[in-house]
Amino acid sequence: MAEMESSICTCWPGSTVWLTGLPSSGKTTIARAVAERLRGLARRVEVLDGDEIRAVLLPGTGFGREDRDARVRRIGLMAEVLARNGVTVLVPVIAPFADSRAAVRERHAAAGTEFLEVHVATPVELCAERDVKGLYAKQAAGEISGLTGVDDPYEAPAAPELRLQTHTMTVDQCVDALVALLAERGLAA
Ligand code: ADP
Repeated sequence: MAEMESSICTCWPGSTVWLTGLPSSGKTTIARAVAERLRGLARRVEVLDGDEIRAVLLPGTGFGREDRDARVRRIGLMAEVLARNGVTVLVPVIAPFADSRAAVRERHAAAGTEFLEVHVATPVELCAERDVKGLYAKQAAGEISGLTGVDDPYEAPAAPELRLQTHTMTVDQCVDALVALLAERGLAA
């Protein structure tokens, strides 16, 4: 155990990296790949999965504006507590509303914890083509409604710390850009 602890690098402060973007834009893929890269550098890393957290922390909540806002704020709280304790926290969660994201940013600022907003800026047409969870097809077939970016709002960040264009960049290039940003901010090697 002591040996394991000593192999974890605590040279850099923790931080929250929030990956916001449409469904199937690439948030989870990039977050997991960045986590893997950082673990290779012996960082403490967590990926907070939105679906899992929704099921555990806010079971029975839906996709209306209030429920979405409440979830983003709670996930933001969890991320901040982890980040404050030296973890690099990757949050691949849509977070469609600018004021919810601003509230999470403010919470981090108040605690003196680093917060980076990353916009995974994939055009909706490509997201619909990828349709990893079949949501775009279901919406088109009239089986669901309230799909972010289609018939529900998505407020793209006006000034994110980083914007990733997954339609012109490979996953590896996206990971390189994000890890470079962390390094530039003194948050990773
Ligand atoms: P989200 O978490 O945003 O809903 P996912 O990461 O689950 O999206 O799915 C994105 C899909 O797009 C995956 O199948 C992934 O392999 C693919 N993809 C293609 N190019 C990229 C890229 N540059 N970055 C991220 N994902 C990409």
